[in-house]
Amino acid sequence: MVDVAAGCSFGCLFCPVRWRRVQDGEIEVFVDLPDRLRRELTMRRRSAEQVGPGKVLLNAATDSFQPIPSLLAVVHETLEVLFSAGVQVAVRTRGLVPEGFAGLLRRHSDLLLVEQTFFSVDERLTEQYEPGAPHPQQRLESIRRLRAWGVEVRARIQPLIPFVSDTVGHLEELVRHIRSAGIERATSSYLVMRPQVQERLETRIPQAHWNLIRGSFKGQPWRKVGIHQMTRLMPIRTRDQGYRRLRTVAERAGLTIGICACQDPDLGSDCFARQSSTDLVGQLDLFPSAS
Ligand code: SF4
Repeated sequence: MVDVAAGCSFGCLFCPVRWRRVQDGEIEVFVDLPDRLRRELTMRRRSAEQVGPGKVLLNAATDSFQPIPSLLAVVHETLEVLFSAGVQVAVRTRGLVPEGFAGLLRRHSDLLLVEQTFFSVDERLTEQYEPGAPHPQQRLESIRRLRAWGVEVRARIQPLIPFVSDTVGHLEELVRHIRSAGIERATSSYLVMRPQVQERLETRIPQAHWNLIRGSFKGQPWRKVGIHQMTRLMPIRTRDQGYRRLRTVAERAGLTIGICACQDPDLGSDCFARQSSTDLVGQLDLFPSAS
């Protein structure tokens, strides 16, 4: 995993990442990362014992494609460094890949996998829950652009929010839009509650929504999931029913759904992060993960 920044200006209310150094909505760009990465990769290539990574998940602690020039410049340079070393890169984003990346991505399309993330295409919902992220229609345009450059793109439907975004009507609309951009495969998972997510939702969404969400988590204990000490998941039966609903809707439209094993360790089997580190040999430790 490589992070070129910590924090995210998109400010999604359900964001699971806990920023250690920055406030919600702020971002700290690690401008020296490309140089450090270049040095590290060169050193590893020269060393007989140390081999560099075959695949990298870029930016788990921020979104790579926020419209912030200093961030985009570092992302571009980081991709150049990784591609030059033959490293495959996986990127997950709610943002838009700018035209300025066309040359680089066209040249290295075989080394890149992009997962474009959506929670809903309903404008009212996205304004409430993803206040700083680009409009879903713009994200669909970004997918079309990437595909035209030869880049493999998948979708991520995340998070499913009980009674808010997981109804048949909402899912049909979302799946229809994703398919219209030519996407055939998506990964999904339900909302994962963490203390900071609960605090944001409780104070910033309509009371009726919060009542539905709170009711869906009722009686569920806080537990350790993966590296996270304090996590609450909805009852497994409720999640299973929701995933079946999504799969039924998606299959009718020709979209294959996998469940993310990182976000849902009980029911998940698909994992973008794990796929991107399948052949990882020698994880670089330039910065600790912020999540
Ligand atoms: S785009 Fe991703 S990293 Fe940024 S706030 Fe939303 S969920 Fe968090």
